[in-house]
Amino acid sequence: MDLRTALFGNQPPEGGLYLPRALPRFTLGELRELRAAGSDALLEEVARRLFAPPLSGDAVGRILRAALDFPLPLVPLADAWVLELFHGPTLAFKDVGARFMARLMAELGDGGPLTVLVATSGDTGSAVAQAFAGLPGARVVVLFPDGRVSPLQERQFSTLGGNVRALAVRGSFDDCQRLAKQAFADPELRRRLRLTSANSINIGRLLPQVLYYFHAWAELPREPSELLFSVPSGNFGNLTAGLLAARMGLPVSGFVAATNANRVVPDYLETGRYQPAASVRTLATAMDVGEPSNFERMRALYPGGAEALGADVQGVVVGDDVIRETIRAVHGEHGYVLDPHGAVAWAALGRVLRERPAATGVALATAHPAKFPEVVEPVIGRPLEVPEALAACLARERRVEPLGARFDALREALLGEDAEEV
Ligand SMILES: *Cc1c(COP(=O)(O)O)cnc(C)c1O
Repeated sequence: MDLRTALFGNQPPEGGLYLPRALPRFTLGELRELRAAGSDALLEEVARRLFAPPLSGDAVGRILRAALDFPLPLVPLADAWVLELFHGPTLAFKDVGARFMARLMAELGDGGPLTVLVATSGDTGSAVAQAFAGLPGARVVVLFPDGRVSPLQERQFSTLGGNVRALAVRGSFDDCQRLAKQAFADPELRRRLRLTSANSINIGRLLPQVLYYFHAWAELPREPSELLFSVPSGNFGNLTAGLLAARMGLPVSGFVAATNANRVVPDYLETGRYQPAASVRTLATAMDVGEPSNFERMRALYPGGAEALGADVQGVVVGDDVIRETIRAVHGEHGYVLDPHGAVAWAALGRVLRERPAATGVALATAHPAKFPEVVEPVIGRPLEVPEALAACLARERRVEPLGARFDALREALLGEDAEEV
């Protein structure tokens, strides 16, 4: 299957998930040469090998610079590192994959208008809406459960205007997902609107995430002899991208699958049995996943099962009490503020580094702490500064359209606007 089909099809018609048949492979010598030239040069070459062809080398460079137009600082903390992935427009790491995917779609589409329909319980909607906002030829329709996303999250996708519409569904997130599914199954909608999805299993969101693993390696002041990444995981797209980076030749010694109380993958690593469960609510809400969608991909990458995966990945479970204690201690001792998801990664990394003290540890920080003031502020005992990106969208006018949780209502909302424009 070619990249274009996987990108616009989202999922193979026969079920399962797309993975590249073969990955580009770097020798350590090549990587060292690129590292000497700096992270920008390294990332451009990694992106080129991943996406050219079908894209031209120039197009890859253009997409890379437009998608990653924010910094990815590698910050020293105690005796390890934090890779801050949250300086994009929605202040979470999903910006990386969503922004790259939006530009891949714009570049690989046939130029005709495209409608991206996304059902969201909060974060995905804002990352996708922001990623496509202002891109010519694309329209975004966000379906969200009215009154059930945080006011801050709602602001992030309802104040963009332009090519982004926010439909407040009178119902639950499940209703939103059902409506989106019905729309994708409707041949007339698909044809007339050129409907496409942008959800987290899309390969166009997964592949760009390998870039920041290479970036972290390039930014370390000395080439580490033993490198560990701690990845706060929910659907495991982030960790799967790390495994792909390692297969491309990045010299990584291991990964920490850091989870909250939703522990199906750490349990699988320990027992060899995969038992998806209903998700439980924790302080790291974006990781409250009981049946991780990328588990299938990890299983495909490790046909040897839990034992084989366990040679590269160690599972660590972090409870809510430890999340709070980690935020408090890191703030108290180092003056650094972690968000609840980054705290899971940091706490898990600490546990593993105790057994492997010689290793260089990098914890991925996936969200800005100001996105979770209700958790962070009482723990550190002071208010957080609101970052500019957030302040800007709080100041803009909010525009949402109410929608009954019925497919005919959605159909009319989608086609009505289409008819006006034709
Ligand atoms: C989505 C998300 C995660 C989990 O990432 P996966 O790729 O689904 O494992 C972690 N932290 C934050 C802040 C997120 O939004």
